[in-house]
Amino acid sequence: MKKENEKNKILECVFCGKKAGEVPHLIQGFKDNVYICTECVDYCNFLLEDTKLGFSPYGGGVQKFYNGNSEEPKISKPHEIKEYLDKYIIGQDEAKVAISVAVYNHYKRISKKNTKKNDVEFQKSNILFIGPTGSGKTYIAQSLANFLSVPFAVADATALTEAGYVGEDVENIILKLITAAEGDLERAKKGIIYIDEIDKITKKSDNVSITRDVSGEGVQQALLKILEGTVANVPPLGGRKHPEQQYIQIDTTDILFICGGAFDGLEKIISSRVNDSSIGFNAKIVDKKDFDYDKYMKLCEPKDLITYGLIPEFVGRLPIITTLNLLDEEALIKILTQPKNAIIKQYQRLMELDNVKLEFTKEAVKEIAHEAYEKKLGARGLRGIIEKIMQNVMYKVPMENDIKKVVIDENCVLNKTEPEYVRG
Ligand code: ADP
Repeated sequence: MKKENEKNKILECVFCGKKAGEVPHLIQGFKDNVYICTECVDYCNFLLEDTKLGFSPYGGGVQKFYNGNSEEPKISKPHEIKEYLDKYIIGQDEAKVAISVAVYNHYKRISKKNTKKNDVEFQKSNILFIGPTGSGKTYIAQSLANFLSVPFAVADATALTEAGYVGEDVENIILKLITAAEGDLERAKKGIIYIDEIDKITKKSDNVSITRDVSGEGVQQALLKILEGTVANVPPLGGRKHPEQQYIQIDTTDILFICGGAFDGLEKIISSRVNDSSIGFNAKIVDKKDFDYDKYMKLCEPKDLITYGLIPEFVGRLPIITTLNLLDEEALIKILTQPKNAIIKQYQRLMELDNVKLEFTKEAVKEIAHEAYEKKLGARGLRGIIEKIMQNVMYKVPMENDIKKVVIDENCVLNKTEPEYVRG
């Protein structure tokens, strides 16, 4: 009798629960009545490939399979989000306020969507960050995701191409987020994606290659749908889509997209609109130093971005535009010393593990900030400069047990001299 019942039972995949007939094939395990479908096999392959899970002598970690019971991101009030960002991000107050409000509304929109009273449709509020290199665009987005405990992925717009060209399909951006969510699609659906270098896919971008669509407009077109919200077909192994492949389907409606770029030259478009005079594209005398970059960027309007080369529909999908300032030397000094995880604090902690005290004189800190400012890499240049100074120190300290203190002064920065080693 028992045998007869088992015979009549509809076979199903133990991973996703789909029945025979709903999936291409079921593969039977050693135990009777244990099956896995080929879709789940593909998906498991994707998890293994993309998370680069290595061999573990302890039997390996557990890689979570999507189970649909994920936690909701916690909704914090704008001032709470800003307070958190203040701990890590120096300056950029306007951007921090703008993003705190946007994120609050975004997650409120998601949580209210499923309630009975949804008579009013909330518009999705993706964000555009405009600011120079190293001003904190990526860092703000990343810190936000940390605070909200949602998965986060960074993508580079210049790597994307429209379908039919060599390069990455836009859906690969979503794949990065799924990977960040460790394959948990429910979590991924509420994640944050930062798309960098969005200014390089404008219509008249110089960044032309023979493998890419010439204008960049095709990529903007391709991004429209996922920015707005669609059910995207994501190739589980990345790369180009092809017809025989099985896709991971994911709704992008609740994913928050933050796009960012430096938009070099945008200030000239804005100023010529505002002043309708001297400093337009055709102006002869434009001294960059006299040009108030921050002042004009703050006046940016959607139409300036369209003049710059973004298509109107794309600008329309980014209703919140916020600008980040060029970080001056004073801000760079603060970045070196003040945030919870300031670079200097990180090195001090590293040295402390070797029982050595690390000191940077005030002048040294000033000089590092000055050098980074001159390099025009914003805060991005700071780590490189310090790393160079510290490399020798980090080699020497573990080798020589009597070193108790290391002092870095401005000469170490300016003239690359050896720091002072205090021995005991
Ligand atoms: P971008 O604007 O080019 O995206 P990033 O956000 O990647 O710049 O900044 C590079 C690094 O510089 C960050 O990882 C962070 O350590 C530091 N940084 C940049 N801006 C700030 C800031 N405003 N406050 C604190 N650290 C910053």
